[in-house]
Amino acid sequence: TPNIRPLVAGNWKMNGLRDSLAEIKAICEGVEEPHFERIDTLICPPATLVYVATALAENCALHIGGQDCHSQESGAFTGDVSAAMLADCLASYCIVGHSERRTLHGEDDLTVRAKAEAAIAAGLTAIICIGETEDERRAGKTLDVLRSQLSGSVPETATAANTVIAYEPVWAIGTGLTPTTEDIAAAHAFMRQALTMRLADEAQAMRLLYGGSVKPGNAGELMAIENVDGALVGGASLKAEDFLAICEAY
Ligand code: PEP
Repeated sequence: TPNIRPLVAGNWKMNGLRDSLAEIKAICEGVEEPHFERIDTLICPPATLVYVATALAENCALHIGGQDCHSQESGAFTGDVSAAMLADCLASYCIVGHSERRTLHGEDDLTVRAKAEAAIAAGLTAIICIGETEDERRAGKTLDVLRSQLSGSVPETATAANTVIAYEPVWAIGTGLTPTTEDIAAAHAFMRQALTMRLADEAQAMRLLYGGSVKPGNAGELMAIENVDGALVGGASLKAEDFLAICEAY
């Protein structure tokens, strides 16, 4: 979208040991190229690597983020990580409501909204993930699902600065499958319109990412679609070379 600064975000999921920090270092070096001045770049490593990753990326344009956060700031929530803790580790973004959290951890829209609110309150930019399952798509319910996930998961406090929406069809994640260009264009136009009804001008400037099997080979085509303001990349973000090649599609 004209006037929107694109974001290419990498989600490492539960991948990455200390030796993967070499990839962060290589991405940092890559994004110093003048070409990258036009876009924002982000890697969300596992929580164990966030602090050392932000230290590594301190003097480069690459942002570091979390993959999930608890809705509370602190307390008796064994195993959880709060948005305040991610911010304390100098992260600047946090993914919330990824389909793997929704499916494997039973997170519903209310939970996701509370997490997004917590991320925003901690000064992070929330990347709120939505998307239909294969069954929902077959039943022709894609836009209905997007409408209800947007209204349920996106907080009233969402602005173009503190919120990013990632459209990730569940059936396209990690499968090598992607929707057609027309289907992505329709989903993104629908999201822009639905968000505008609630958030007015903020929605016009909000970044709408596409995610689901984005690779160096298809990034150019996907990123050229109207209302696609960047990508959320899983598997292909694990290698600096692939991630940088996707960034170069802009
Ligand atoms: C994701 O998990 O956000 C994702 C899009 O994964 P992949 O790129 O591997 O399909």
